[in-house]
This record gives sequence, C-alpha cells and structure tokens, in this order.
Amino acid sequence: MDQIKTAMVGTPCQIMAATKINKYSDITGGSPIDIKIGLFCMENFSYTYLEKFLKQNNIEMYEIKEFRIDKGKFLVNLIDGNQFSIPISETNIFTRKNCHICTDYTSDLSDISVGSVGSKDGYSTVIVRTKKGQKIINELKEKDLIICEDLSDKGINLLKTIANNKITKNQKNIQSRERVARQVLSQRHVTEETLHTQSCNCQFSNLEADVISVGGCVLCGACEYVCKSNIIQINDRKPQAYGECDDDCHACYYACPRTYVSTEILPEDIDSKPFGEYIEIMEVKSNSINGQDGGVVSGILMYLLEKNIVDEVFLVGQDENVPWKPKSFVSNKVWDVIAAAGTKYSTVPIGFKALSNKSK
Ligand SMILES: Cc1cc2nc3c(=O)[nH]c(=O)nc-3n(C[C@H](O)[C@H](O)[C@H](O)COP(=O)(O)OP(=O)(O)OC[C@H]3O[C@@H](n4cnc5c(N)ncnc54)[C@H](O)[C@@H]3O)c2cc1C
Ligand code: SF4
Ligand code: SF4
Ligand code: SF4
Repeated sequence: MDQIKTAMVGTPCQIMAATKINKYSDITGGSPIDIKIGLFCMENFSYTYLEKFLKQNNIEMYEIKEFRIDKGKFLVNLIDGNQFSIPISETNIFTRKNCHICTDYTSDLSDISVGSVGSKDGYSTVIVRTKKGQKIINELKEKDLIICEDLSDKGINLLKTIANNKITKNQKNIQSRERVARQVLSQRHVTEETLHTQSCNCQFSNLEADVISVGGCVLCGACEYVCKSNIIQINDRKPQAYGECDDDCHACYYACPRTYVSTEILPEDIDSKPFGEYIEIMEVKSNSINGQDGGVVSGILMYLLEKNIVDEVFLVGQDENVPWKPKSFVSNKVWDVIAAAGTKYSTVPIGFKALSNKSK
C-alpha cells in the first residue's frame, strides 16, 4: 500500500516539529505529513494562569463556550450568552511562557502560511513559500475556488511591523532568560554536525532538563507521537515519562521544536527576515467556505481531499463535552473540514495528539 499522505494545519512551533520529525525520520520514525499549512501566531495561553485569572473575575472554566480574539480584544464567550473581554495587551499574564521566547510569527517552515494581519475583512493574508504550495494555490485560483489580490503596501508594512516586534521583544526575553536559566537551544543556530553531537545521546531526561523544566515546552505533542515505547503522556499538562527509555532511542529529543534547530532548517539570518523565505504574498478569500478570516485554510484542505492530493487532514475542532477545549483529530471527510473552520485558542496540547491517538 502507498504511504498515507496527510495535510497539517498548525502554529509555527507545530510546523517546526513536523519539519524536524520528517528531516530526522531515520531517528524519529517520520510522519505522514506531506503538506504543511502554517498559521501566523503571536501567542497562545496557559491553562493554569488563564483559569486563575478568570476565577479572579468570577468565571469558572465550565461556564465557557469559546475564546476568541477580535479587533484587539481577548473575548471569553460564555455558555449563557454573556461575554467577558479584555484588551489583548493585557493578556500577558496568562500567555504561555514558551511563547515569550518564540520568534517565528509567520510559520517560516510551512508550504503556505495563513493569517489575518494585513488583509481587509473577510480575506486572509497568504504567504506562499514552496513550489508545492504555489501549485496548490494556482490550481485553486484557476478553478475559481479562491480570489487572490495583491496585499496592499499598508498591509505588508503592518505585517512586517508586527512580525519584527515579535522577533525583537522575544529576543530580549531570550537574553534575559539566558542570564538566569539554561540556553534557549532552538535559537543557537548550530550546524547539522553540532546538532547531532549535542543530541545523539539525549533522551527524555534531557528533554525534561533542556526544554520542559525551563518553560520551553510548546505542548505540541511531537515527543509523545514519536515515542515508539509509548512511555510519554501529555494529559492537558506538560509531557511526562512513565517508564524507562530504550537505550538506543533519542527520537523525542530530535523531534522537539525547542531543542537544537540547525542552519540547514532555518538559516542563521532568519530573524532579519520577518516573513522568512517566500515566493509570493497576497490577500485571499475562499469562494466555497466562510472561515475565521478568508476561509482559505479550510478551502485548501477541502480541495486537497476532493482531489485526493492527500488522504487525510488534521484538524482542530471542539471537544464534545467541554466546549472551550480544542481537540485535534484526523479526518478524510470534507464536512469535517467545514465543521472545524475557525481558530481555537488553546490552553491544552493539540498538535500531534491527533496523530498519536491514531497510531496507538
Ligand atoms: C493560537 C493561534 C494564534 C494566532 N495568532 C494570529 C495572529 O497573531 N495574527 C494573525 O494574523 N493570525 C493569527 N492566527 C491565525 C488566524 O486566527 C486564522 O487561523 C488564519 O487567518 C486562518 O484563517 P482562515 O479563515 O483561512 O481559516 P479557517 O478556514 O477558518 O480554518 C482554520 C483552520 O485552523 C485549524 N485550527 C483552529 N485552531 C487551531 C489551533 N489552535 N491549532 C492548529 N490549527 C487550528 C482548524 O482545524 C481549521 O482547519 C492564529 C491562529 C492560532 C490557532
Ligand atoms: S510557541 Fe507560542 S507563539 Fe510560538 S508558535 Fe507556538 S503557540 Fe505561537
Ligand atoms: S523511549 Fe525515551 S528517548 Fe525514546 S522517544 Fe520515548 S521517551 Fe524519548
Ligand atoms: S517537550 Fe514534547 S510537547 Fe514539549 S515542545 Fe518538545 S516535543 Fe513538544
């Protein structure tokens, strides 16, 4: 049987994990991810801090229907129809610590990156990065499934400013963190050779010391997915190992987006390129679906399934029992793509959970 092909949608850190898993497939076992659609991302939120903050404002997690971000505000929509909101500038207290050391805003390693910043209402800003990504966008355009327009200079400048602000602010955070704690490994710009020398003896205990215990874990779930001994578990909180590692296994350390990243993956001058390497940038709207912004992500995923370009896509929907809780799953059904449209801000691990659950 031919190998299954999967399209992934994810935040920049999740896209980095997918890139590392496939680059070091002889060590990690690889993944079926064939097409990477990256989202722009400024930050995500910590369950513990958010729960505490909401409690102080007399809101319990079970009362929440969903979190949203709109026009500079963080919105908490409650099941009873009420809404609580604060300016996004005040969300710092419950942003995940790992997001404070992240310098990728536009998902530099994806085939196609999608976000809202820079475009007019109802459109998504799209950055096409690879030939594979360009072919998909061109086909959708030819079949009138999307409308593509030039991104305005104002839009490009706004995107550049926001991406550069993230880089500058978080580089400062990295420097201050490194003065009191361990080095932020993903920012070392090491060669492939150094990466292997530093990683080839590392196991879960090293991942714990170098990433998890120093507030670097992005909860992507890649470690859990690649662990063939099935000893890693991530249940709403940080990864934990329940058992002994195989002597020859180093898979989790290689897969983790917050251990070493070589200059073969990200060039040394990447932080001077706010949009990373790309072929074209534009504003795009799907003709077939309403989504968070232009519905472009869902439009692409529907096309990939309908044309059998991939066998399955991994999506983020809502947990049936806990409405605010995002849940990732793998599907080959177009109606699942339609139902999963819209951004879910997540305080729990989602990324590779879907693939892990499938393979176990
Ligand atoms: C945590 C987070 C932070 C973001 N921050 C920014 C930002 O700062 N600036 C900006 O311009 N854009 C940001 N975005 C992206 C933006 O919210 C939209 O997702 C993007 O513009 C795509 O819109 P669309 O209409 O094309 O997507 P849609 O067609 O609505 O499809 C959205 C797709 O994203 C998937 N998805 C939903 N939630 C998640 C999640 N948490 N993780 C992975 N996949 C998910 C769904 O499965 C769906 O397939 C962020 C997204 C996330 C998840
Ligand atoms: S680490 Fe945080 S800011 Fe960076 S991509 Fe992941 S969720 Fe977004
Ligand atoms: S066996 Fe140990 S080193 Fe290998 S992936 Fe699992 S936790 Fe990591
Ligand atoms: S420790 Fe595991 S869950 Fe955390 S960032 Fe690394 S791979 Fe992802």
